[in-house]
Amino acid sequence: MTETLPSADWPTLDPGWVWLCGAGPGDPGLLTLHALNALRQAEVIVYDALVEARILDWARPGAVTEYAGKRGGKPSATQRDISLRLVELSRAGKRVLRLKGGDPFVFGRGGEEAQTLVQHGVPIRVIPGISAGIGGLAYAGIPVTHRDVNQSVTFVTGHDQSGNTPGSFNWRAIAEGSQVIVIYMGMKHAERIAGALMAAGRSADEPCAVIARASTPDQRELETTLKQLAADIAASDLVPPAIICVGRTVLMRQVLDWVSMAEGAAPRNLDPLGRGRPAESA
Ligand code: SAH
Repeated sequence: MTETLPSADWPTLDPGWVWLCGAGPGDPGLLTLHALNALRQAEVIVYDALVEARILDWARPGAVTEYAGKRGGKPSATQRDISLRLVELSRAGKRVLRLKGGDPFVFGRGGEEAQTLVQHGVPIRVIPGISAGIGGLAYAGIPVTHRDVNQSVTFVTGHDQSGNTPGSFNWRAIAEGSQVIVIYMGMKHAERIAGALMAAGRSADEPCAVIARASTPDQRELETTLKQLAADIAASDLVPPAIICVGRTVLMRQVLDWVSMAEGAAPRNLDPLGRGRPAESA
């Protein structure tokens, strides 16, 4: 990698260091240059379930890859196990890359891991990544903000540490506070979440989209309404990971579904928000 980067000033992953790095939502092209620089230097790469296998192809030859997550029905490694494994690798003098899906600090427990590393005296670097709630939606042609729709966006997790819908959330405040709501890990509790939002005043007809495996060759999308969200998910073949977007920015997909357009589809509606004027005249 370094030979293909224009300057020689790329940071060196020194022995004993752990770089905590986002891998983006899937498409390897969404890695940052810092991520690539890290992949080309790491001796050990500890990666999550959400990291696409193709991304590991960018690792330097001979790098050891260690899976940290759920697989084959085996219980997942606990967060403590993973953090302590990173400490152990650092103490063994390895150049360690901790690779996580999306952005490491967005619903990814990266903050906890980083804190444990620092508490153990391990030197770290953090490399942000493109989060599924922004980049994944972009791959479905959904801008997370649009001047005609929202001045704010709320990112919510669909379940808390106990695996339940976060009971501590003030759903009313979320429903009233933000025109667009992006829900991570929301598939399982979609019915309860949609119910809570409607009970808090969001329209049953509000547009929603579910984007599964965004930015991978298996990307699938579902367009629905808040009222139909859970039933339509249940009737679909969508499998997690999937991101849910609630709000009128979802309509922009009708004009901006660039993935389908690249395959020859025509835009369905050139003016889905009903601006009634050419966008550039504003
Ligand atoms: N740190 C990650 C999020 C981890 S939480 C990030 O910044 O993106 C895991 C959740 O992220 C999944 O349940 C799903 O809601 C979302 N997610 C991650 N990758 C995704 C993808 N490729 N497509 C759709 N959703 C994704």
